[in-house]
Amino acid sequence: MGRKTKKVAMTRGFGARYGVTLRKRYIKVVTEARRTHKCPQCGVEAVKRVSVGVWNCRKCGVTFAGGAYTPVTKLGVVAKRQVKSLSSSEA
Ligand SMILES: [Zn+2]
Repeated sequence: MGRKTKKVAMTRGFGARYGVTLRKRYIKVVTEARRTHKCPQCGVEAVKRVSVGVWNCRKCGVTFAGGAYTPVTKLGVVAKRQVKSLSSSEA
């Protein structure tokens, strides 16, 4: 299958290092990072990664910081929640 060959080529730089599990995870992450994502502002699936953690929507033109591989990370949501609870409990 041509598809399989292409996926192997993506991780050629790794050689036999890191093991097949990590290489498979890398492929999953890279594939996720390269596809278009839903824009948090206009809701259109037109967000593409500009560089690590920087995302740009081709529809409405908004540029925002997000996760390294996905625009919105679970970690980011948790962090925001923690910041909120911290600032409210300060007084
Ligand atoms: Zn947008």
